[in-house]
Amino acid sequence: MAEVLVYVDHVDGAVRKPTLELLTLARRVGEPVAVALGNGAGDTAATLAEHGAVKVLTHEASEYADYLVVPKVDALQAAVESVSAAGSLAAVLVPSSAEGKEIAARLALRIGSGIITDAVDLEAGDEGPVATQSVFAASYTTKSRISKGTPVITVKPNSAAVEAAPAAGAVEALTVSFSDKATGTKVTGRTPRESTGRPELTEAAIVVSGGRGVNGAENFAIIEALADSLGAAVGASRAAVDAGWYPHTNQVGQTGKSVSPQLYIASGISGAIQHRAGMQTSKTIVAINKDAEAPIFELVDYGVVGDLFDVVPALTEEVKARKG
Ligand SMILES: Cc1cc2nc3c(=O)[nH]c(=O)nc-3n(C[C@H](O)[C@H](O)[C@H](O)COP(=O)(O)OP(=O)(O)OC[C@H]3O[C@@H](n4cnc5c(N)ncnc54)[C@H](O)[C@@H]3O)c2cc1C
Repeated sequence: MAEVLVYVDHVDGAVRKPTLELLTLARRVGEPVAVALGNGAGDTAATLAEHGAVKVLTHEASEYADYLVVPKVDALQAAVESVSAAGSLAAVLVPSSAEGKEIAARLALRIGSGIITDAVDLEAGDEGPVATQSVFAASYTTKSRISKGTPVITVKPNSAAVEAAPAAGAVEALTVSFSDKATGTKVTGRTPRESTGRPELTEAAIVVSGGRGVNGAENFAIIEALADSLGAAVGASRAAVDAGWYPHTNQVGQTGKSVSPQLYIASGISGAIQHRAGMQTSKTIVAINKDAEAPIFELVDYGVVGDLFDVVPALTEEVKARKG
């Protein structure tokens, strides 16, 4: 069976959820071989094996942290060459973060392959993997196949379930020689963002968002309280962030972040096309809006016509009560 390379996103050996989702999709296309780089790469092996990695190629070097993406591209290219030389390589899968997309694009260019970014699903096809994308502000779903070279595909977080599928996870050291360009852009400083304790917006399984209807920065506390009762991330419409009620980093939509959680709860958001573009692929969509004619109700699974100042706190209390 052909192998599928899965680029591992991890923090000091702790594997992030989108990588485990990639392993679920990779198993549909071939045998997953994970590529883990940098500090703690070896510590990822147990988790990756538990989720289906037959092999884990590791390489630790300070260059991965000290320079921007090129050392990682060098290493992924080395992995492509090593797996291709030993057998057949069906695809390279990379999580669709900003960094992941840059690595994937540079890799595809180097190995002369086609690339598909922001896939939301992946299945095996007779002539190679077929990727599903949600395009034009999520008004169309397309299916595409790469016709040149080894397919390089980036997959959005929350596109597949994390599934346990124990495999060997044999650790092998990857041989990497860095190119001249690897040290071209040095990281000169790092300032960690103050943690809210909530999950990362683009990776969260549940997102609770507020819009203009929230009517003030101070009122976002009720959105946060619902989010915290559900272990969710907080999102906001552009109207809310432009008003200064919530940070721009939390904006969902065409010019903000794209989210695809299992559950998206929109409160006081009308459902403009630019907002939909960032959340329409959510699995279950719930809206709370006092206007029964609001466009958001066209795409919801569950809609509550009501005042969010009544509905959201009541929902929070109900969630807390049911959790005991
Ligand atoms: C190029 C471009 C890019 C854009 N990118 C984005 C983007 O990335 N993300 C984004 O979100 N927007 C984006 N927009 C803006 C977008 O067009 C809308 O203006 C914006 O999404 C509206 O935000 P909203 O739904 O919060 O506000 P509104 O459209 O004003 O809707 C507020 C809603 O709250 C409801 N409401 C009010 N009070 C209550 C209450 N007490 N209880 C319940 N419901 C209540 C109202 O009925 C209304 O439906 C973009 C626009 C352009 C032109």
